[in-house]
Amino acid sequence: MTTKGLVPDVELRKLAEASLQGKTLPSAMPQSEHETLRLLHELQVHEIELEMQNEELRDAQAEVEEGLARFAEFYDFSPTAFVSLRPNGSISQINLAGALLLGRERALLMGEHLMSFVNNADQAIFNHLLQQVFATNTKQTCAVALAVKGALPTFVQIEAILSDNQQECRAVLVDITARKLAYDQQKLAALVYNSVNVAIMVVDINDSIVAINPAFTELTGYSEKESIGHQPKIFKLGRHEADFYQSMRASLDSSGQWKGEVLNQRKNGERFLEWMSISTVYDEHGAVKQRVAIFFDITDQKKAEQTIWQHANFDSLTGLPNRRMFHERLEQDIRNAQNTGALLALMFLDLDHFKEVNDTLGHDVGDLLLKEAALRISSSVRSADTVARLGGDEFTLILTTTEGTAVIDRIAHDILAKLTQPFQLDGEKVYISASIGITLYPQDGLDIKALIKNADQAMYSAKHHGRNRYHYFTPLMQERAQVKMRILNDLRSALVDNQFVMYYQPILDIATGAIHKAEALIRWLHPTNGLVGPADFIAIAEESGLIVEMGNWIFLEVARQTQQWRKLYDPDFQISFNMSPVQFHHDKTNHEDWLGYLHTLGLPGNSMVVEITEGSLLDASPIVAAKLLAFHNAGLQISLDDFGTGYSSLSYLNKFDIDYLKIDQSFVKNLTPSSSDVVLCEAITIMAHKLGIQVIAEGIESAGQHDLLTKAGCDFGQGSLFSRPLPAKEFECAFLKNPK
Ligand code: C2E
Ligand code: MG
Ligand code: MG
Repeated sequence: MTTKGLVPDVELRKLAEASLQGKTLPSAMPQSEHETLRLLHELQVHEIELEMQNEELRDAQAEVEEGLARFAEFYDFSPTAFVSLRPNGSISQINLAGALLLGRERALLMGEHLMSFVNNADQAIFNHLLQQVFATNTKQTCAVALAVKGALPTFVQIEAILSDNQQECRAVLVDITARKLAYDQQKLAALVYNSVNVAIMVVDINDSIVAINPAFTELTGYSEKESIGHQPKIFKLGRHEADFYQSMRASLDSSGQWKGEVLNQRKNGERFLEWMSISTVYDEHGAVKQRVAIFFDITDQKKAEQTIWQHANFDSLTGLPNRRMFHERLEQDIRNAQNTGALLALMFLDLDHFKEVNDTLGHDVGDLLLKEAALRISSSVRSADTVARLGGDEFTLILTTTEGTAVIDRIAHDILAKLTQPFQLDGEKVYISASIGITLYPQDGLDIKALIKNADQAMYSAKHHGRNRYHYFTPLMQERAQVKMRILNDLRSALVDNQFVMYYQPILDIATGAIHKAEALIRWLHPTNGLVGPADFIAIAEESGLIVEMGNWIFLEVARQTQQWRKLYDPDFQISFNMSPVQFHHDKTNHEDWLGYLHTLGLPGNSMVVEITEGSLLDASPIVAAKLLAFHNAGLQISLDDFGTGYSSLSYLNKFDIDYLKIDQSFVKNLTPSSSDVVLCEAITIMAHKLGIQVIAEGIESAGQHDLLTKAGCDFGQGSLFSRPLPAKEFECAFLKNPK
């Protein structure tokens, strides 16, 4: 307050200043005036003091304002996010970093609930924090994920306290996304490291183990305590040569990497094969810091691979290479022979009569025989040679020599000799032999295909020439094989094109000359070669299996013919037809269909006769026996053809209910009154009659033979003396329309 008007201002001021400086007032003044002046003076002093205080306050305020502005700047531009929240969680204040974190403009965030930015899963955590801050007035922390639209979740650490006026919560949000991801990754790595099935070992620069995982212990048997600080050498079996480790080292030095199979040993001494991959960890200067080896046991996998390989390449019965391996070796040996100029011989070996052993003694004995045969064959060759089993009773040999064919002869000879020695199998003494075909590289052929074909042909030639022998391949064989091939090709279409015809040869009653029987014999009317006899195609048809279809046709044709002639001319007429052993073994020869057909035609069983050879009976499997019995039961008669050429075993005659026995023409051919064959024919006839079997003599060409056979007691005769086989029409005219 001022006292303007009482003392001029200038005066007052001077007084006040003087008083402040301790100067005394003029004493000449009257008392009351004096008092007034003193008061005035005091007031002035006070005013000055206030003025000065005001100035100080202004200064302080300016300072505070400046500080506030600085603080606001710090607040706004701080890289840390600050948010102030009301008790309901709505934002009352947020700095720029906070707005950035929440991905929204600051102005738009005012009044928003921070909760709406918190990931659903973490909202309870955040809620709890907020409540605690207001309830306890203590600092609270938590970590939550913020879900900002269109962005990956941001992980934040929140620290919150209550404001001084306890009206708001002040929170600091720190982005810990990178830290969290790194931590998660580390956790994952640790999880993998600890739970993976693959052993991991880390060694330092001194080759000392610094870390292992649980799988390592499981695989090797060595615990952490036993491994850490030691060198991996302790696991080394020493199976590998020094150069193995040298090359591993070299690879690590040059590329930092190494991969391969290592033979190791577990703590318990058990060996195992592992697949190992080593990589290197370098320090910031590029120097080797650590090596990390990852490995797993591949012992079982190797064993399985080995088994599969063994199975794919070797015959399980004999342990010999199989067809696949044989091809591989042959290819390899041909290449070698090409380079060295050595002679290569390929042998095909087929056991003779193996099928009979198999059929009569059973497959188990058959298997024993094959095993033993494999051993005997292998014992005749050198270790560099190959003996393989292609399947069944077929073996192949690959021999290489620089000494010419003499060595090959010797080996073939040796094998044949060894195989003819008796086999003692499961208490049975078995005799077999073998047929071998040999072809030579490069003389006979240059490629695998040609050589295999040659050896096969040579083997068939050996079989054809009586078995138990070896034949070298010759060009003539090839020619024959080609002819055979052509016939086979033509045969395939012959049936469809109706090129077969049945011829009939009469069988007459020797005593009366009456003809009530005939044998049906097949002929092939080849479109270009003319009439072809069965000798030229039956064997091929048998080999190829075509005989089965042909046989069905023959039966139907002959049955039809029998019915016709019985109806037209002779109700007792009987026709015999030939059946190949192959037909007996084949499922497609369904005797039930045949018997059904006879029934349809109204023919009794005895209107037909089945001619079989001893070959059919020789490997008399139950199938053959059953088929013969079915024919027999249906009333068909059975004739044993070509008797005297094969085994001529009399035991068959009884066993199979044979009705007729046909003495082979080779006997008949040599018949002279003084020959021993006459005696033999007589003996056969007597014996047959005793068994209730009638005898037919085949191939009677002369009256002399006819006489002798009549005297020998034969019942029936067949041969060119009476008639050669004729087409049906001619036969009909000659023997049925005008019977003699
Ligand atoms: P096979 O069953 O022993 O037939 C008798 C063979 O002797 C017939 O030869 C016949 O023509 C011939 N022949 C007949 N009389 C005389 C003669 O006085 N002197 C001479 N030297 N031969 C005579 P073919 O027809 O050539 O038949 C040969 C073989 O072919 C037959 O011998 C038989 O095993 C087989 N065959 C013939 N036709 C068939 C058939 O339809 N099916 C089957 N599976 N084989 C048949
Ligand atoms: Mg016959
Ligand atoms: Mg015959």
